[in-house]
Amino acid sequence: MTVKLYEDNAYIKEFDATVLSCEECKSGYLITLDKTAFFPEGGGQQADTGYINDFKVLDVQIKDEVIYHTIKNPVSVGDTVKCKLDWDTRFARMQGHTGEHLVSGIIHSLFGYENLGFHMSEKTMTLDPSGVLSDKDIKEIERRANMAVYENKAVKAYYPDASLLKDLEYRSKLDLTENVRLVNIDSYDTCACCAPHVSRTGEIGIIKIIDYIQYKGGMRLTMVCGINAFEDYVKLHDESKKMMHLLSSPRDKVCEFVIRDHEVIGTQKATINRLNAELSKANLDIRKIGTKTLGFTKGASFDDMRNLVNENSENAELSAFFSEGENGDFSYIISSATFDVRDTVKALNESFNGKGGGRPNYAQGKIIGKKEDILSFFEN
Ligand SMILES: [Zn+2]
Repeated sequence: MTVKLYEDNAYIKEFDATVLSCEECKSGYLITLDKTAFFPEGGGQQADTGYINDFKVLDVQIKDEVIYHTIKNPVSVGDTVKCKLDWDTRFARMQGHTGEHLVSGIIHSLFGYENLGFHMSEKTMTLDPSGVLSDKDIKEIERRANMAVYENKAVKAYYPDASLLKDLEYRSKLDLTENVRLVNIDSYDTCACCAPHVSRTGEIGIIKIIDYIQYKGGMRLTMVCGINAFEDYVKLHDESKKMMHLLSSPRDKVCEFVIRDHEVIGTQKATINRLNAELSKANLDIRKIGTKTLGFTKGASFDDMRNLVNENSENAELSAFFSEGENGDFSYIISSATFDVRDTVKALNESFNGKGGGRPNYAQGKIIGKKEDILSFFEN
């Protein structure tokens, strides 16, 4: 059994310990110590990182109350080793984990929902309340959680004895009856948990729910806390500042200005499309080859071309319309009410390095070539 220094004091950043065992494993060596402040992966939180002597701690796992540290190089059994946690990462996780308790506790007391899943990523966390929450509910939960941060309540972790435990109300994923470590945040929450937490809610910093979706009959909330929330704010602020400059908009009107520009762009697009259609109509050069009708224009969209085909293909057995692009390419539409155009389209693509296809009586695509060569293709 390894003494868990992080349970009594989550703020130990450096410590000395005695090596109890060192065994080779796939990714290096598995080390056990008489005591450790490295938190092993568990309860939705990742394993701590840091150094044992000068060797990077790659992983920390717990099995049967023994904590195994994975490092690349061996250390001698009986030696005293210098251990150092990657404190910035650990503290950010403590902020996040305590923030999660607070939010889950508030959701539980307001709605009676359990948190069915908790997962920590590098910067964000997800939690899965067991029932559905509205936009308004989320806002209220977030507001209450941040108020609890300002109240700077104490966060206490302890092992109550069995007689006390049975009368206590607390959130727990497992049905444990003994050796239960409880983490209490004043009247906000009591939860069974093995992880290190901050000692007062003020240390959590900002709590922000950045996304939420309905998930398995309940919700999945994505949340940031503390330093990660601050960094997220800085990033978003920088982005919105760039947008403010681009739009010449005041700080609180970015969205309004984007909507305004969006509407202007929409109107302009419609005008461009209309003018383009008129232009492609004005540029249209119709050639009749037997029962075939060929049309040539410039800069027409497929929609414009379909209109041109419909307007100019009366009595044609086959209509082939081409719109010249910027780089010697032609978009085409080939259609026929009476026969299968697919062989013609295949031969056209082969002759003009083209791509495209469609149904028996309609095809569209692109080819590269010259107008006179296309004409002679259809003459033959
Ligand atoms: Zn926890």
